[in-house]
Amino acid sequence: MGRHLKGTPKRMPRKEALDTLRLLQEKYIDLLSYGQFTQEHEKEFRAQLREAFESLTAMVYGPPSLWQYSFLCKKCHKRYAEIGCTAEYGDDSSGSYYHSCCKVCYDQLKTEGKLIEGEVQL
Ligand SMILES: [Zn+2]
Repeated sequence: MGRHLKGTPKRMPRKEALDTLRLLQEKYIDLLSYGQFTQEHEKEFRAQLREAFESLTAMVYGPPSLWQYSFLCKKCHKRYAEIGCTAEYGDDSSGSYYHSCCKVCYDQLKTEGKLIEGEVQL
């Protein structure tokens, strides 16, 4: 970027920074034991994290439209998840889960035949 002086550290783009924080959040949750996961203060902290991500996501991506959720697609993490685009998909290693996707990912999963439609397991 032209506005940076020579020797100034290059700043990470905002979307990349947000995605890096998302990975940190996922790793944090993965490291929690079941006992920790269910503790009240951990639940409160995760709720705070969700709110923080909603605020940061709106700052980076702009406010979501009426047909979008306030969080990003659980598959590509590049667009807002959309109402009506909840999909079950997965791979052989991790099984399948329900995720809220963006329309692009939803249509792609459907085209590739990877969308598992049918019974809802909640
Ligand atoms: Zn997507």
